[in-house]
Parts: sequence; structure tokens; C-alpha cells
Amino acid sequence: MKFIIEATDGESRAGLVYLKFGIVETPIFMPVGTHGAVKGIDSLELEKIGAQILLSNTFHLWLRPGLATIHQLNGLHTFMNWRRPILTDSGGFQVWSLKDLSQVDEDGVHFRSPINGDRLFLSPEKSMKIQIALGSDIAMTFDECTSWPISHSLAEKSMELSLRWARKSRDSFESDSALFGILQGSMYDDLRLRSLEGLENIGFDGYAIGGLSVGESKEDMFRILRKCMPKMPKKSPRYLMGVGTPEDLLNSVTLGVDMFDCVMPARNARNGYLFTKFGDLKLRNRRFKDDNRPIDETCLCPTCCPSNHGEKKIFYSRSYLHHLQKINEMLGAILATKHNLWFYLNLMREIREAIKQKKFEEFKRNFLLNRSRGV
Ligand SMILES: [Zn+2]
Repeated sequence: MKFIIEATDGESRAGLVYLKFGIVETPIFMPVGTHGAVKGIDSLELEKIGAQILLSNTFHLWLRPGLATIHQLNGLHTFMNWRRPILTDSGGFQVWSLKDLSQVDEDGVHFRSPINGDRLFLSPEKSMKIQIALGSDIAMTFDECTSWPISHSLAEKSMELSLRWARKSRDSFESDSALFGILQGSMYDDLRLRSLEGLENIGFDGYAIGGLSVGESKEDMFRILRKCMPKMPKKSPRYLMGVGTPEDLLNSVTLGVDMFDCVMPARNARNGYLFTKFGDLKLRNRRFKDDNRPIDETCLCPTCCPSNHGEKKIFYSRSYLHHLQKINEMLGAILATKHNLWFYLNLMREIREAIKQKKFEEFKRNFLLNRSRGV
């Protein structure tokens, strides 16, 4: 993996990540295809709306369809017909979400399969093996997540275990793909910095901040980010896991984050919650019943602007989308998903352009102001 920083503006950076399946322009948003599918949108459509890299998940794909099936089809890229890079999460977070169904020891996590109750075991070594078999462009270290609130001593114990697992992940990762280390340490500054130091000593291609967005306040989240970001290696990509709203993305880019993933745009779309430059729009609201305008007049997504028919602008109206939501029609979720993902991907393109022109702060100010005005 190679990472080149093309431009900076303050702490924010525009860069290029060279991976096996292509080049990714940062800052980047990665749509989430946990089970090898981004809900409601297929791989070719994702390419069309400008997705450059997807996130998928070790844990879920290992359980179903299983490695043998994916291996037979030459890896996850071919299996899901996606020709660009893939980042795979290690499974640590998913095992953690099983809570009472899992038991952690020094070597890994024992748990019952949520699908059929089978006894299973996931370890750093096994997670690396699975991610290599999937053909991931960027693999993540196997880590332990913690809930919030948690005491300092328990968070410390967990962070140290994650560091030992990071070492095991590194040592057993026999692949030319990239491997990112994941910072833990909950909301404790000292633990976060120790986690970072430990990961740097091991050495990774990129560094992710994990364990945020687990129930803490926004203030806590940004306090941790402000503490960690200036100390993170400048020459490697920095990835903030599982965050967040458009505002979170902008505020994190200000601090120097390069990569994001979040289920929010696709999940909200399915519930009729749309993001626009002028604030958020809840499609199920009665006031859109007879609203013949597109979701956003300025949006060029396949829902607001499916094709160019000369003078006449073609689009799916708020009224039609409201109707589809009301009757729970699958098409409503599909059209909304395209819009929301396009909105996030386009936001990252605009951020990148603004950084290159050294106008990021101005762009951010205007963007936030417009969003606060409301649809
Ligand atoms: Zn749109």
C-alpha cells in the first residue's frame, strides 16, 4: 500500500491510497456492505454514484455464506461483482455486540453462532486468515471493543489485550494487502495515547480510531479525536470507524481524518430520512404528500436527476417518494438510498476539492450554514 498526500489545508488532507484493486481518493466515505451487500443498491450502481471503496465484514461473511463459497468464486470482489477496493472489519466489533453470548480469553473470543447456535472461536490469527481469504485490500486488526461507560481499570485491561492482539494480527498477516491497527482506550486520554504508541511500535499501514460512537456524548468523541489526531502518524491514512453525520465528517476532516464508514446514510434512507445540502428531510411527513419538487434541486444523484433529457429536468418527486414510503414499497428505499449515498460521496468530493484549493474552512462554514437553514 502506498499513501500520498496531495494537498493540506490546516490539519485536513487530500490524499491518494494505492491499493490492490485501485486508487482511493481521500478524504473518503466507504459505504457499508456488511454481508457483502450494500442494502438496496448493487455494485454497478455503486460504481456509477462514485463509491471508490466498500466496507465489508469478516464475522458475518465467515458465518454466511462461509469461506469455501467465497473462495470458490475467487474472493469477495468477484463474489459481489465489485471491481474496486474493499476494506474488511476484523469481527472484533461484531463479537463484542453479541455481549452475553461471548466469552473473551487471552487467545480470542468463544461464542455461539447467532445463526445456528454452534460453538465458534475467533482469534487474531483466524481473523487475519479470513480477511486474506476474502481478498480484502485493507484488513483490520482483531480488537476488543468496550461499552461506555466503563471504569478506567477495565478499559485499560481491554486496551492492553487489544494491543497484544494487534501484535498477533501483524505477526500472522502473511499478505501483500494493507493492515490497519485499531486504537482503543475508551474515553480515557492516557489510554488512547498508550494504545497509539503501542500500535506505532508494532507498525501498520494505517491507523483507525475504534471504540467511538458506542453511546458516548459528541463532546467526548471529539475530545478523544482532538487528543489523538495530532499524535497520529502523519504519513499514514487515519480512519475514524463508524462515524457519522455530515457535520461529524466535516469536523473530523478538520482534525485530519482521511477515511470514514457509517451505516447512517443507507439506514436512514430506508426509513425515509434524507440528507440534503439544506438540512434533513423526513419523507414520511405529510407536507411532502403533494410536493412536486425533487429531494434537492441542486443534487445530481440518480434519484434527483436520473438522466439528461435536453431542457427538461427529469426527477423523482418528493410526492412520489413520500407515497412509496407510505406504502412501504421497496423502490422507495432503493431511490432514497441512492440519494443519501450520493450525498455523502459527493460531500467527500467537495471536501477534497476545497482542501486542494485551500478553501476548506470556507467550504465548511457555508455547508454548515446551509444545512442549519432547513429544507
Ligand atoms: Zn439526490
